[in-house]
Amino acid sequence: MNMVDEKRLVQRFVQYAACASESGHERQMCLLLEQQLQELGLDVFRDDVRKAVQTDGWNVYASLPGTGEPMLFSAHMDTVCPGSGVKPVLRDGTIYSSGDTILGADDKAGIAEILEALTCLHESGLPHRPIEVLFTVREETGLEGSANACYDRIRSKTGVSFDSGPIGRIVIENPIQQVLFLQVQGKASHSGSHYDDGIHALKCAADMIAQIPCGHVDADTAVNVANFLSPGQANSVPDLASFEIEIRCFSAQKLETFREKLRAIFERVTQSYGAQYTLRTELRSPGMQLGRAHPLVGQVCAVYEALGIEPKIARGYGGHDGVSFAAHGLAAANLGCGFAGCHSLDEHVRVEDLTRGARVALGLMTCCR
Ligand SMILES: [Zn+2]
Repeated sequence: MNMVDEKRLVQRFVQYAACASESGHERQMCLLLEQQLQELGLDVFRDDVRKAVQTDGWNVYASLPGTGEPMLFSAHMDTVCPGSGVKPVLRDGTIYSSGDTILGADDKAGIAEILEALTCLHESGLPHRPIEVLFTVREETGLEGSANACYDRIRSKTGVSFDSGPIGRIVIENPIQQVLFLQVQGKASHSGSHYDDGIHALKCAADMIAQIPCGHVDADTAVNVANFLSPGQANSVPDLASFEIEIRCFSAQKLETFREKLRAIFERVTQSYGAQYTLRTELRSPGMQLGRAHPLVGQVCAVYEALGIEPKIARGYGGHDGVSFAAHGLAAANLGCGFAGCHSLDEHVRVEDLTRGARVALGLMTCCR
């Protein structure tokens, strides 16, 4: 596919990068993309999610009729901070920020690639499948835009988000994410005269934490402990302590087994102190599992191979909008769009990778008609 115009693509990316859209403040990006999608002949719909999501923008949905199986192409419009006043700098074939902000290639590289592919279709009149586009708000704050998107409108049974790093990467698995909020109740007492009357909630919680395995505890599970709090004064035995445990696990069964192990630790330690505990669980992500044998994987790999890109099937420990699509019944995968160093001031993207990403988008739009 040599229709991709590198110069136009770079201009487009730079325009998006310079258009500030930190999470919740995507309005200008929404307006810009709506206009460009309309100019390319797509039907644009404002997917207003403001009842559920704090934003001055909306999800931008657009569709283009075609022949064959429809496919959803997606990327998120929001960026992490500091993402305002971005001044993209092109140096030796790579685009950086000027060093005091992020670049926002996560995920504006994906947006630029999808728009470039649509521009190629518009110019060439090349036959293509029915195309649906969804650009979301507030992905970075927990997939909020995609979780609340208008799925009644979406006809595609398969969806790809362009929101991973290296070109060729195809993420087909993401973990279930749970956060456990633990509160330990002890008993306050004077630290000097009545120390032995107290129940030391802080020490009890610290003991629990010391016994909780963290990091990659097995091949499918990553665990972290954070936000340990026990406010109080030095002259009192602390009666309250709390902390959070985050579990990311690719297997529901292994997750349950691990939780049992945690419960045993909580029981044992609180009993030894005479303390009590309460536990609240929040599901942060239902996870996503697309089997390697799914036709979507085959289609993506075929497009990669036709472009001389080596496919790298992967699992990701984070989240992306594809996880929301999967929760709404689509077969979804997250594809590399070329960004590197995301969420940092060193974030960058190679022009060559933008071009390859646009070719991948175009390949998927025109395959399987
Ligand atoms: Zn992203």
